[in-house]
Amino acid sequence: GIDNLSDLEKMAVLGHGTGGTVYKVLHKKTSSIYALKVLRFNQNTISICRQAAREAEILKRVDSQYIIRCHAVFDNGFIDTDNGGGDLCFVMEYMEGGSLHDVLRARQRLPEHVISGVARRVLEGLHYLHSMQIVHRDIKPSNLLVNDKGEVKIADFGVSHIVAGTREACHDSNMGTCAYMSPERFDPERWGGDNANGFAGDVWSLGVVVLECYVGHFPLIGPAQKPDWATLMCAICFGEMPEIPETASPEFRSFIRWCLEKDWRKRGTVGELLGHAFVNRKC
Ligand code: ADP
Ligand code: MG
Repeated sequence: GIDNLSDLEKMAVLGHGTGGTVYKVLHKKTSSIYALKVLRFNQNTISICRQAAREAEILKRVDSQYIIRCHAVFDNGFIDTDNGGGDLCFVMEYMEGGSLHDVLRARQRLPEHVISGVARRVLEGLHYLHSMQIVHRDIKPSNLLVNDKGEVKIADFGVSHIVAGTREACHDSNMGTCAYMSPERFDPERWGGDNANGFAGDVWSLGVVVLECYVGHFPLIGPAQKPDWATLMCAICFGEMPEIPETASPEFRSFIRWCLEKDWRKRGTVGELLGHAFVNRKC
């Protein structure tokens, strides 16, 4: 196991995010490579602190081949006002291929059979999370990581939510990334209705991601349009179903349409989508 932060040597920066930085690190005793996510806090970042506590809680609970593994959490004083702040460090499995966002930047678009495999794994991961009453709430290419076997895993539980017995208030549109947010999270009054838990929002986001993998750009607005809040709001809540290229197979088209149903009651659930022909191909 990894019992000391000082056994880890920073090799490179893998990514920057809202609350901190992710490093590629070497565990000197075993010569193994890990990813280290460091979230820093001070008096001005109470909300990041809360997010981080949630992320730690979830990472400690989950155990699935479809979810990024966390080997250790080091808590160096959440708010330590004497020395200007504290931090929280996650030692995670290192994903050699980077994120799906990086893959798309390098390869522009992916062929359908690859997207089918990605969708299958993300659905398996969501199935596991939802069965644990966890809503991810931030499914997007930069939070889906790829290892050297080409396997995709779900990462980044910074805005995830453990569903309690009570109903979730879905109006916190400042969290997550608006672009991948479902209509019922954007505009709960019009599209939310009786949305008890938010699971359907993860399915919507997956639909946006798979279509993006196929067309090579964020698919709900034109490639030249500015993705500001108002444009996104219009496209997501009032726009037509995005055009799916003619070259896509009928199963792929039907899969995307089922994920991108504006009315979450008509949208496929993760369980239903796992039975869809698009993710059950023999290749
Ligand atoms: P944030 O909450 O800041 O978005 P993420 O956990 O999504 O943090 O990590 C930010 C980026 O760092 C990711 O998009 C990815 O490029 C890189 N990254 C994160 N975790 C790993 C990992 N385990 N292996 C490789 N790269 C990673
Ligand atoms: Mg992220």
